Amino acid sequence: MGFYELAEKALALEKAGRKVVRLNVGDTNLPTPQCAIDAAVGSLKRSKSGYCSSAGLPELRQKIAEREGCDARNVVVGPGSKHLLYGLMSVLCKAGGTVAFPSPSWPAYGLACRQLGLKAHEIKTTFDARWEFRPAEALARRPKLLVICNPLNPTSTIYAEKTMTDTIAGAQEAGITVVLDEAYKGLAFRDVPRYEGGTVIRVRSFSKEFNMEGWRLGYAVAPEEVVKKLVSFNQVATTCTAPFVQMAGIACLEDEKAILEENRKAWRSRSEAAQKALAKAGFRFVKPDAGIYVFATHPGITDAEAFAAGLLETEVIAVAPGTEFGGYNSFIRICVNQPEDGLADAIGRMGRFLEKGPT
Ligand code: PMP
Repeated sequence: MGFYELAEKALALEKAGRKVVRLNVGDTNLPTPQCAIDAAVGSLKRSKSGYCSSAGLPELRQKIAEREGCDARNVVVGPGSKHLLYGLMSVLCKAGGTVAFPSPSWPAYGLACRQLGLKAHEIKTTFDARWEFRPAEALARRPKLLVICNPLNPTSTIYAEKTMTDTIAGAQEAGITVVLDEAYKGLAFRDVPRYEGGTVIRVRSFSKEFNMEGWRLGYAVAPEEVVKKLVSFNQVATTCTAPFVQMAGIACLEDEKAILEENRKAWRSRSEAAQKALAKAGFRFVKPDAGIYVFATHPGITDAEAFAAGLLETEVIAVAPGTEFGGYNSFIRICVNQPEDGLADAIGRMGRFLEKGPT
């Protein structure tokens, strides 16, 4: 059972009254900051519900520019970073081409390529190399775009600074655009440098950093000519991002330090509880450097899709099979989105399910 099929099945079970532990999807299960809710409601009460600029509200673009150390002209807002990543592939690969990305990878990159008729090139990495990729390999096929997710979904690891700077320098020389997907940057347990350069585009999301998955808010920081293309894409695809959602985004950025500090604390504690329970149950994983996932393997897992389907059926616990993240059939991805004792309990049950062997 694949990732999306499993997610639907878990929801259907929940709707039928079963208590499903949903560790499969990257839902934070943390409350949206009150300041965001107040700002959105205030905006709606003032009837700020018409269309707005396809580039984003000027006030939000300005706030993002301050956060990112760039000019507001280099910022474009969209309804979620997924929309902007798809938009970037669409506008920058009009004539076709290859999109490369280190693997394991978030499934949406490959799916977007398929949708757009682009060639996806997965740069395979290994557990033993701590999921690090080699810059020369990343650039070897001269992709049109090189998408690097940092911290990485599904492993929550951070690429070494030298890997990143060497890759960006090489890409610049070869005229390859690097898209940095930084959806989890604010949830990193240590500082992630700001990577810049002529051909670097950074994409960020409010979904995980500010617990706003369903609100749909993200942005890209890009050279002005790319911003113009993305604005055209927004005009065609969505007109604008809901203004009250953007007002909520401004409120979050005004209180960013406190919100992110609290969220990082929660993720660190949940992640550590999950790691302890996973180790006890015989799983192996590269220690996460960030929220919100652990990508783990177990000698008893050889077909991750079958394992995930069986676990859902028997224990009513949903996990994401590693298969979908680039064919990692002995791995599962767990989103550590439960209180610590809930995680320990679910992982303990997973371990016992594995001990029983194939049914
Ligand atoms: N990038 C990565 C790596 C993700 O995991 C996600 C969400 N799962 C996104 C981007 C998209 O986030 P959103 O569209 O909610 O901003």
